[in-house]
Amino acid sequence: MLIVQKFGGSSLANAERMRHVAGIIADAYIEGHDIVAVLSAQGDTTDDLLKKAHELNKKPSRRELDVLLSTGEQQAVALMAMTLEEMGLPVVSLTGRQIGVLTNTSYGMARIMRVDTQRLRLELDKRRIVIAAGFQGYDRNEDITTLGRGGSDATAVALAAVLHADKCQIYTDVDGVYTADPNRVTNAIKLNEITYDEMLELASLGAQVLMNRSVELAKRYGVILEVLSSRERKSGTKVKEVCRKVEEMKISGIAKDNDVARIAVVGVPDEPGIAFRVFNTMARSKINVDIILQSYGKDGTNDISFTVPLDDAENAAEVLAELGEAIGFDHISVDKNVSKVSIVGAGMMTASGIAALMFEALYDAKINIQMISTSEIKVSVLIERSLADLAVQAIHNKFFG
Ligand code: ASP
Ligand code: MG
Repeated sequence: MLIVQKFGGSSLANAERMRHVAGIIADAYIEGHDIVAVLSAQGDTTDDLLKKAHELNKKPSRRELDVLLSTGEQQAVALMAMTLEEMGLPVVSLTGRQIGVLTNTSYGMARIMRVDTQRLRLELDKRRIVIAAGFQGYDRNEDITTLGRGGSDATAVALAAVLHADKCQIYTDVDGVYTADPNRVTNAIKLNEITYDEMLELASLGAQVLMNRSVELAKRYGVILEVLSSRERKSGTKVKEVCRKVEEMKISGIAKDNDVARIAVVGVPDEPGIAFRVFNTMARSKINVDIILQSYGKDGTNDISFTVPLDDAENAAEVLAELGEAIGFDHISVDKNVSKVSIVGAGMMTASGIAALMFEALYDAKINIQMISTSEIKVSVLIERSLADLAVQAIHNKFFG
C-alpha cells in the first residue's frame, strides 16, 4: 500500500515526540508499505517565527514571510529524516519545491495548482521513506509560497490525491473527531465516521481538527481521510463522502465559535435597495457576513442585524455609519459578547424535529437565543458568550445524554 501520513506540530514538539513519530513511520514502512510522511513545523515554531518577524518589521512583505515560515517545516523534515537514518532506515527529506507543489502566487495563502510527482515516485521506487515538508510550495517565479495556517493538511491531501494513495492518515494530538470538544464537554463521543460536508461545517464552526481547505480538497478528489492520535495506537475517525452510521445519530456534532460579533443597523427605511446597500458595503470592505436577520422596527422602519468575524466588527460599524448618514437610520449597535453555537448532521436532511430539540435544550438551560440560522445540515444560534459552554453541554446532553 501507499500511505500518506501527516504529523502536526504538537506531535513533533520535542526529540522524544520526534522519535515516537519516527516509530510510527518506521512500523508502517517495515510492514511493507510505501510511505510519504508530510510534516508541519515542530511545536510553536511557526508562531515563533512570526513573532521574530514582527520584532523587526510590523508589516513584513508576505513574500519574505513565506521565505521565513517555510523554514519551520524544512527543519522538521531534516530532523525527522536524521531520526530515521539513526534507526538505520532508508529515508530522504524533501522541500515543497522538491515534491513539486506548484502554487499560485498568493503568498501566505497560496493555492496548489499542480503537483509534479516525478521526484516523489523516484524516491518511492528506491524504497525510500519520503519525509515531505508540508505547508509550502513554489510559484511560477520559483518563489517560495505557503498555503495558509494549518496548510500541511492540504499538502497531505494533495499528495494522497496525485499519488492515488491507499490511505491518507492525519495524525494529531486528538484521537479523532468528537461530537463536541472533549476538553470541555463531558461524555463527548468519538465518531467512527463523518462526512466531508459535516466536517467542513464543524471545521468552519471552530472545531479545528482539520484545515478547512484540506477537507474541500479531499472531497473534490475523493481522498478518504483518517484522523488519528499520534500518541495512542487506536483507530480514529474517517472522513468520507457517505457514512453508514451504526446507531442512527440525529446529529454528528456541536461546535462553538467565539470569533463572532453581532452588528445591528437600527431604523433603516423600509424600501427596496437598503439590504443591498448595507451588504454591498460589507462586501466592498471584504467583510464576511454570516447570520442575517431583518425585522420590523419602530414607525415603519426596519432593523437589520447580522454577524461578522470579531476582528471586523469595528471596521464594519465604521463603514456602516457612513452609509447610515446617506440612507437615514437611527443607530448602529455592535455586540462583541456573543458566540455562535451550532449543531451539524447529515441526518437532518431526512429527520424532523432536530432544531426543536436543540431549542428545547436551550430553553431548559434558560438560555436566550438572539438569532437563528439554518442550512441543510446545520442549525446555528447566536447567544451570549458567557453561556456558550453551558449551551454546548446542554445540547450535547439532549442529543447524546
Ligand atoms: N506550520 C504551519 C502552521 O502552524 C502549517 C501547519 O501546521 O500545518 O500553520
Ligand atoms: Mg503548526
